[in-house]
Amino acid sequence: MVSDKPRVRFPPSPTGFLHVGNAHTFVFNWLFARRLGGQVVLRIEDTDELRSTPEALDAIYDGLKWLGLDWDEGPDIGGPHGPYIQSERLQIYNRYCDQLLASGRAYPCYCTKEELDQRREELRAAGMPPRLVCPCRELSDDQRAAKEAEGRRPAVNFKMAETGVTVVEDLIRGRLEFANSEMGDVVIRKSSGYPTYHFAVVVDDHLMKITHVIRGEDHISNTPRHLQIMDALGFERPQHAHLPMVLGEDRTKLSKRHGATNVADYREMGFLPDAMLNYLALLGWSPGGEEEIFSRAELIERFDLSRVGKAGSVFERGKLEYVNSEHIKRAPRESLLEQMVPIFQEQGLLEQEPSAERLEWLGRVIELMRERMRTLRELGERNRYFFTDEFDYDEKARRKWLSRPEVPGRLRALADRIETLERYDAESLEALARALAQELEIGTGQLFHPCRAAVTGCTVGPSLFHLMELLDQADVVRRLRRAADFAERLSQQS
Ligand code: GLU
Repeated sequence: MVSDKPRVRFPPSPTGFLHVGNAHTFVFNWLFARRLGGQVVLRIEDTDELRSTPEALDAIYDGLKWLGLDWDEGPDIGGPHGPYIQSERLQIYNRYCDQLLASGRAYPCYCTKEELDQRREELRAAGMPPRLVCPCRELSDDQRAAKEAEGRRPAVNFKMAETGVTVVEDLIRGRLEFANSEMGDVVIRKSSGYPTYHFAVVVDDHLMKITHVIRGEDHISNTPRHLQIMDALGFERPQHAHLPMVLGEDRTKLSKRHGATNVADYREMGFLPDAMLNYLALLGWSPGGEEEIFSRAELIERFDLSRVGKAGSVFERGKLEYVNSEHIKRAPRESLLEQMVPIFQEQGLLEQEPSAERLEWLGRVIELMRERMRTLRELGERNRYFFTDEFDYDEKARRKWLSRPEVPGRLRALADRIETLERYDAESLEALARALAQELEIGTGQLFHPCRAAVTGCTVGPSLFHLMELLDQADVVRRLRRAADFAERLSQQS
């Protein structure tokens, strides 16, 4: 019995990095398959011999793994329908290519690139779509033999139907019709012997028993061509779904000029893979209802192709940051710690081999700050005071609190008391500071705010005494005295 579980594919071309747009497509395929208990096939489409590189392949693996997108069959894990790298399947494509040549649906093409380009140019000039119209279609056997004798190595073209329409039934867009007269023939094997994308994809999707071809809208015009090749080879058609594109702010296809398009860059910038996955899923899919923040398991449970729209979605950095902040709030402390350690090290804030104690402390810092972080880098960038005395007092801290003549005395009094505090924790610090404010007959704010300015350099942040608890007692005392000196100089100047 044929399984009714879907089989989808991730077919990256290893010619660059993992682009956000491709990752978006893979996320939708993955959610669709995982939701229905189906399978995902990873297939490497390296038929562009000149542009495919091993480095690009590694970058794609890294990107997919970081996003947590797994697959059930692929070059790295094998499977019953391998090999999963197209350059290792040339004989397979040749077999099907020969079949089309034998049945007359394909013909050898001896044109040079210049001849082909020139013909396209002529069509364009005549106001027609620059499709592949090739005189080799009509060559007699003798004429072919003559070309061969000239030593020309032919490409192979597929003969598209010239009249009528090809209908694509799209799961998202419904019925789409394409006029056959406008499509032109399709190169299926290059003169180098390599198949083209159009051919390899059709053969592989068939042999790998793909049930659903889910890809970006930019592939729509390829689909009628693929359908005709499938029909000619007697392959069963898979179902098609063309996803809405990921757009830049100006609503054109997301590209470098809109900002980072490499998934790895988002990892570098401090985004959580779960947040990236969540955000990519929201681009074009509407979960229904108000909720937008979903765990991996929730996404799988809810994802439904019938709630994917046609219109492209703008990739908004601010929205991604919001989604990330929500995931940071929810993530297990250990997982945040693990991901942030290398960031702190790279920021020069943490030693290469931190002790267990230091990691425990770091875990507490993260816990205190997680509500306020939009990215994993921010803590080290904005809250250096956890790690070092080397921070500046910001403009507001200086102006509001450190330029008052009464402040130095208060800070020194506070320092003196903290210096002799026996149980150094948030509770004792707070009690001590409140008692001092009372003695000085000032509101607590008059002491707490300058204190925050002194120990952190800024006027806002998490609970003051919990923050101070995470700093070293002697460091706090030193910072309070340093700020007192600073405030004294400042108030003398003014
Ligand atoms: N290798 C193709 C690409 O990266 C795959 C397109 C498809 O899904 O058919 O665009």
